[in-house]
Amino acid sequence: MDKYQVKNKIKLDSWDPQEHGAFGGSKKDALDELINLNTEFAAVQEKLYAENKHKLLIVLQGMDAGGKDGTIRKVFAVANPQGVRVAGFKVPSEKELTHDYLWRVHHQVPAKGEIVIFNRSHYEDVLVVRVHNLVPEKVWKKRYRHINEFERLLADEGTTILKFFLLISNEEQKQRLQARADNPEKRWKFNPGDLDERKLWNKYMSAYEEMLNRTSTNWAPWYIIPADKKWYRNWLIATIVMSKLRKLKIKIPIPDLDWDKFVVE
Ligand code: ADP
Repeated sequence: MDKYQVKNKIKLDSWDPQEHGAFGGSKKDALDELINLNTEFAAVQEKLYAENKHKLLIVLQGMDAGGKDGTIRKVFAVANPQGVRVAGFKVPSEKELTHDYLWRVHHQVPAKGEIVIFNRSHYEDVLVVRVHNLVPEKVWKKRYRHINEFERLLADEGTTILKFFLLISNEEQKQRLQARADNPEKRWKFNPGDLDERKLWNKYMSAYEEMLNRTSTNWAPWYIIPADKKWYRNWLIATIVMSKLRKLKIKIPIPDLDWDKFVVE
């Protein structure tokens, strides 16, 4: 899965959102394998909660209709809600804006035994904020450094961080937004503002590219996930998360008692 990790300087237009090469088999095989990964994730999450030692932070970023919600449902919703939490980041409130931009984020990071999924994140402060000139360039430019240091603090204090950029094509976004507009069941998800953002596609791609190049670190790596094919996106993210979790060697702590002779009266 290494090839999806941003290690050297990347150019986004050389990444193919439809790519699905790392999975050898068919879509059906990938869906079957996802079921196994889901089962394994749920079991490991329970152990992580019981051990009360590790903290896992997963960051999801992507364009509108990029699949952040779908990923949460298909990859992470299998776990026990006790110990797994989703934190969504929308337009900051007035109160949040009176603080620095990391203030609302730091509140939401995982505690020991917790897995937290960020649906959007502090990266909005170098994405939408940059694209819409919400603060001057000299302000957002400094944020890459802040973010790297903030994530280093979290990692030094025991947080494992994985960041996923869901890469969809312009055409795929068009189809997904149209599908939302056409389907009465999905219209609640349709936000006319998404059409204005869509017109800024190229500016967003530049902002994403710089974000990926500046903030993929050893302690908080970015992975670029080809996300036009939902089955591949889900399989790939589940695979990367599980390979990281396996390395943590999580163990359930067992009280030191003479279990063979233990009888509950
Ligand atoms: P979503 O698209 O994530 O399902 P919304 O439609 O409510 O949810 O969108 C949230 C919006 O909040 C996005 O347009 C996003 O760019 C914006 N947002 C998030 N963080 C910030 C921020 N720090 N500054 C300005 N806008 C932000």
